[in-house]
Amino acid sequence: MAVPKRKTSTTRKNKRRTHFKLTVPGMVQCDNCGEYKLSHRVCPECGQYKGREVVEK
Ligand SMILES: [Zn+2]
Repeated sequence: MAVPKRKTSTTRKNKRRTHFKLTVPGMVQCDNCGEYKLSHRVCPECGQYKGREVVEK
């Protein structure tokens, strides 16, 4: 079985982990309630989009 010849250094490991993000891209905070929502979508928490356009909640 193939085994890595060298130990992965902390720097190399951390560089690989720069792609790990806390939130999924495309997630933005709602202008109204601050909840995370998908951009260009109506907020699931308060039903608002661009300040108005209310979906009943
Ligand atoms: Zn909201």
